Amino acid sequence: MSDTRRTKVLIIGSGPAGYTAGVYASRAMLEPILVQGIEPGGQLTTTTEVENWPGDTEVQGPDLMVRMEAHAKAMGTEIIGDIITSLDLDTRPYKAHGDSGTVYEADAIILATGARAKWLGLPSEEKFKGFGVSACATCDGFFYRNQEIVVVGGGNTAVEEALFLTNFASKVTLIHRRDELRAEKILQDRLFKNPKIEMLWDHGLEEVTGTENPLGVEGVRVRNVKTGEVTEIPAKGVFIAIGHAPANELVKDKLETHMGGYVVTKPDSTETSIPGVFAAGDLTDHKYRQAVTSAGMGCMAALEAERWLAEQDLDEGKDETEPLGYGAPVEPAAE
Ligand SMILES: Cc1cc2nc3c(=O)[nH]c(=O)nc-3n(C[C@H](O)[C@H](O)[C@H](O)COP(=O)(O)OP(=O)(O)OC[C@H]3O[C@@H](n4cnc5c(N)ncnc54)[C@H](O)[C@@H]3O)c2cc1C
Repeated sequence: MSDTRRTKVLIIGSGPAGYTAGVYASRAMLEPILVQGIEPGGQLTTTTEVENWPGDTEVQGPDLMVRMEAHAKAMGTEIIGDIITSLDLDTRPYKAHGDSGTVYEADAIILATGARAKWLGLPSEEKFKGFGVSACATCDGFFYRNQEIVVVGGGNTAVEEALFLTNFASKVTLIHRRDELRAEKILQDRLFKNPKIEMLWDHGLEEVTGTENPLGVEGVRVRNVKTGEVTEIPAKGVFIAIGHAPANELVKDKLETHMGGYVVTKPDSTETSIPGVFAAGDLTDHKYRQAVTSAGMGCMAALEAERWLAEQDLDEGKDETEPLGYGAPVEPAAE
């Protein structure tokens, strides 16, 4: 028998966007329910050092996410280990069907299901993830000062990552399976002019090689797709830059998306094309994809959900108070 849970705000996702939305929605007395999904804590649980979270010079990704969860819980967010398998956004209250059998009914929904970097699927890539293999130059480039690194890919992401990595690395080799790049011409011009970047055309990554103890990357084995010849390239870092995929499965047929599936939000807002449904974090952000920007959008989504819910109440004549955004009722100004 299925169980039904009713909430004013349902938050789907437990990365920085979801937990921050939880903190703000709780402080606005909305008593939110947050469903964690298959990866409690989100993408940062798959990395080690995070050096760009304000307030922490260095923090382990999983530790940071445990703290965020505890923070959201302490403020009053009910955190549930479940996965949403489908959404019904045609009528209000909106309904989210949980894998557990629970149906979550919500007046407003904050989608914070994140995104995933695309990977090549090599066993050695998996083995060295977080130990020299990365999909985020902004996050990890700093660890490769004056070292040689390779970037794999041929689109805008790969070229942008390669250019960015020249700020740190002594040499960047861009490995691409074809003999021309798909990236925009202006980016290609910058790439070809950069003395630190070497192109390796017509090559595919076969294997990441490195040490066992400690686990660390020492190079890559690449194969020429035309001749079959295998070459080894020394490198301390390997950046896989073949794109990202937003986790939009729940809403791709329901909400407007763009740029390869990212949920469209109104300018300077987290409002989606359905009233009362807000989107925050990597699910909607094809540009920055950072923990701090995701957290910022989680905050925006909660404040916007609060305001939207108050407007619904006003429409129905239930509540005449104006929300402040911080959970406190507005006192009438003294005359
Ligand atoms: C290896 C790695 C290292 C990184 N390092 C840094 C760094 O140093 N600094 C930095 O700022 N950023 C870093 N990032 C990027 C950062 O992790 C992301 O920008 C951030 O986590 C995005 O947060 P989010 O809340 O949007 O989503 P995510 O963190 O992607 O979380 C998505 C959440 O949604 C949940 N979910 C998905 N589908 C469902 C569903 N159907 N039902 C319920 N829940 C669902 C998942 O379980 C997960 O909890 C790194 C990313 C990776 C992969």
